[in-house]
Amino acid sequence: MNEYDSNRISDLVQKIGYKKTESLESADCYILNTCHIREKATEKVYHDIGRLKKKYRNKKKPIVLITGCVAQAENDEMLKREKYIDAVVGPQSYHNIPEILKGIVKKKTKVNSTEFDVIEKFDKLNTLENSESKVSSYITIQEGCDKFCNFCVVPYTRGTEYSRSLKEIIYEAKSLVSNGTKEITLLGQNVNAYNFKHSKKSFRLSDLIRELDKIKNLKRIRYTTSHPNDMSPDLIECYKDIKKLMPFLHLPVQSGSNNILKKMNRKYTREYYLSIVNKIREVSKNIEFSSDFIIGYPGETEKDFLDTIDLIKKVNFINSYSFIYNRRPGTPAASLDSIKNDEQKKRLIIIQNLLQEIQINKNKNSVGKFKEVLVENKLKNQTKYFGRTQELTPVIFDANKEDVGKVIYVEIKKYNRNTLFGSKITSKKEAAA
Ligand code: SF4
Repeated sequence: MNEYDSNRISDLVQKIGYKKTESLESADCYILNTCHIREKATEKVYHDIGRLKKKYRNKKKPIVLITGCVAQAENDEMLKREKYIDAVVGPQSYHNIPEILKGIVKKKTKVNSTEFDVIEKFDKLNTLENSESKVSSYITIQEGCDKFCNFCVVPYTRGTEYSRSLKEIIYEAKSLVSNGTKEITLLGQNVNAYNFKHSKKSFRLSDLIRELDKIKNLKRIRYTTSHPNDMSPDLIECYKDIKKLMPFLHLPVQSGSNNILKKMNRKYTREYYLSIVNKIREVSKNIEFSSDFIIGYPGETEKDFLDTIDLIKKVNFINSYSFIYNRRPGTPAASLDSIKNDEQKKRLIIIQNLLQEIQINKNKNSVGKFKEVLVENKLKNQTKYFGRTQELTPVIFDANKEDVGKVIYVEIKKYNRNTLFGSKITSKKEAAA
């Protein structure tokens, strides 16, 4: 989502005359768009500013804006602690950046813009063409979250759930496709809770996917990140008849233990999660799942941990993420006693080894097979091309310039832990031969 936001910030400031630069040494303005999910996010911002100060020691100071969730969470504190920062701008206020920049240039005052003005933000962004021209692009369709998992800062930094208008999303999708986009990933903190109400009608994620399916030159549709409780029957049904909807779903479970799921306030059980996975597999038998896992959550016993291992084995997750639990100030879980760090680390290694083993087996099984790959770009300084399979696995292969933006068949010849390697084959017939 930050990548999408950064691109939109770039669109906004280009309107008032700023241009992107690759050179950190000669910028007039430096906008650091931050994420608060990972550990030590705030300290990383101060380190970055420290590096910037060194670069500009004998030069005119650039305007420095901190945007995103760290700005939202730290707020005035940041302006007080680091005088080099000119403004903090929350994720729901970045539509104000052009005015903020003009104000700083004119009045040289510090600015705190951290209101939750999500309606005004998208009203403003909707009037501005999305200039992205990548083969695979993002569109934010939903922001915020009402779920309040006990470990998570999102409801406090991004606010409550908000869904953009279906019409505006389709407009943005069409404009991206006319710029060359072939794959769209719909984004939201709780993307499958998408619910746009208009004239007494309610439009859900399934309605949006069905509308996107009608866009002629769009080849692939994905969405992330989903909550298991919002995998409604209408959305599951989409996997049955919408070919453009990729057979890959990132569906974070966080833990395989009912005891921990309850402590996390996830509001589902492992049995419910497995029932959703099975329902989706009934309509899309080759679908693959990925997930996020929080390891060593406060109160996690050996038995809870083994339940997570058991769930991983049952679902066979690919392309997944696992982290040691890390407390976030201001969240309900922050006041709980952590389990021993040594134990957390030990469990993380076991989980990561298991996830890696599953991934390597899947990749190994792909050797000799023909995979449908969307060609995204040529690798820098190399002759090879980069793309992804339907299941989002990265592939590096021999192909031609004309293949960029096309879905081609690649014969998989080699693999490593994360990536497949192969060569383009010219036709489906060749694949069948
Ligand atoms: S559903 Fe996701 S975004 Fe919402 S509170 Fe839980 S972890 Fe955070």
